[in-house]
Amino acid sequence: MASSANDEDRVDERDAGESDRLALTPDRTVVVVGGGIVGLSIARELARRGLRVVVVEADRCGAGASSRAIGVLSPIHPKQQSTLKRFLRSGYEAWPDFARELRDETAIDIGYRACGSVVLLPGALAREDEVLGEWRGAGISADLLDRSAIARWIPSYGGPFSHGVRIEAGAIVHPPSVIAALVRAVRKLGVRIIEGTGPVTLALWPWGGARLVFAEGSIFPESLDGIDPYSAAIVVAAGAWSTDCTRELPEPRPKVSPVRGQVIEVRHRAPPCVVRFACSGLHGATAKEYYIVPRTADRFWIGSTVEEVGFDARTTAVGERELLDAARTIFPSLTEASIVGRWAGLRPRADRHGGPYLGPWPGVHNLWVACGHYRNGIVAAPASAKLLVANMLERRAIEPAFGLGGGNEPTGDDRPIL
Ligand SMILES: Cc1cc2nc3c(=O)[nH]c(=O)nc-3n(C[C@H](O)[C@H](O)[C@H](O)COP(=O)(O)OP(=O)(O)OC[C@H]3O[C@@H](n4cnc5c(N)ncnc54)[C@H](O)[C@@H]3O)c2cc1C
Repeated sequence: MASSANDEDRVDERDAGESDRLALTPDRTVVVVGGGIVGLSIARELARRGLRVVVVEADRCGAGASSRAIGVLSPIHPKQQSTLKRFLRSGYEAWPDFARELRDETAIDIGYRACGSVVLLPGALAREDEVLGEWRGAGISADLLDRSAIARWIPSYGGPFSHGVRIEAGAIVHPPSVIAALVRAVRKLGVRIIEGTGPVTLALWPWGGARLVFAEGSIFPESLDGIDPYSAAIVVAAGAWSTDCTRELPEPRPKVSPVRGQVIEVRHRAPPCVVRFACSGLHGATAKEYYIVPRTADRFWIGSTVEEVGFDARTTAVGERELLDAARTIFPSLTEASIVGRWAGLRPRADRHGGPYLGPWPGVHNLWVACGHYRNGIVAAPASAKLLVANMLERRAIEPAFGLGGGNEPTGDDRPIL
């Protein structure tokens, strides 16, 4: 995270009023609830710091949003300095090392490619010098593209956009491979992963600490033998299900809602970089933003819909149509392309301004939370893991905006700047 003198002061603070918080000595076990990218990254960071870690996953690792993501690691414009944007920037900047470490630890190719992006603009760029100059001032190459330059970057381009910006920064990963690599990495570090537990909920011991309640009502299933349930620390990283699994706990609790995103994969000549553009939805609604993400020379992913339909992770004909129609505005030749994959996932949206819930659970000495990363959980996961684990082990304070009961201040600059 970019830091100022004030940030340094804040980061050095210890959690005032949390003096009875569980001290995480190496003999402690930490149970992470949820095996998505956030839970697995935290498990890895804890295990690297010498803790014993167990991940309990209702289904299988990656079954939530994480394996369904489109895998764009968006750069943050230098001008965007809200707490959330600085946090996302620190996640983005952590990715090259995170990707290299995962490859070294697992030999799995997670598809990390610093391919940059082309952003298509509906009109000429207002404040051209200012916007391009700020990217360049931050050491990132950025160029204005006219129609013929766009066509050089995007083979088969046939869209209405006559201006665009090429930004050198920006990367992609292949999310299912990231999850496969994290699973292998944490197992090598000795983390126990227990999948298929069904929904685990949390409750309080009579004396106040949090405990896990498994579906069949037992405190711990047999597979958790050897772990002292009275001394375990717990991290809630259950994505869109984090509100439900903490419903028995006192307020403040995380308020997280599912927001469905659908993605399709098409066989069609692919651009060499991410293409970002906005166009009106199926019914002429306000412009929505879409991504084209190259996977091979002749396949790309189109994403994604943004739908508030509760815990319904099905793909739909309407969703597929929306994505195809959007992509056809820049690739008319898609009419002839075959759709070779379709899937949907539930993004965990924190129902307040300001970003994810990240930090200690006030008043519950052995409980922490890491959820609500909405559209940014892939890019943010390495930063979330570092911040949370530094809080757990060293009591380093996390921005109050990410705390339970924090946030809700509109930050003003959370939209793309172009
Ligand atoms: C279509 C789509 C595109 C996206 N594209 C991007 C992108 O390009 N870049 C980006 O940064 N982000 C993107 N995202 C967002 C990103 O995927 C999420 O923010 C991120 O995956 C959230 O990770 P998580 O670990 O918090 O949640 P999840 O991945 O949902 O993991 C939560 C896990 O907890 C488990 N669980 C739930 N309840 C319980 C329980 N009671 N007990 C035990 N286990 C439980 C679930 O089974 C699940 O495996 C996208 C999301 C979607 C859907």
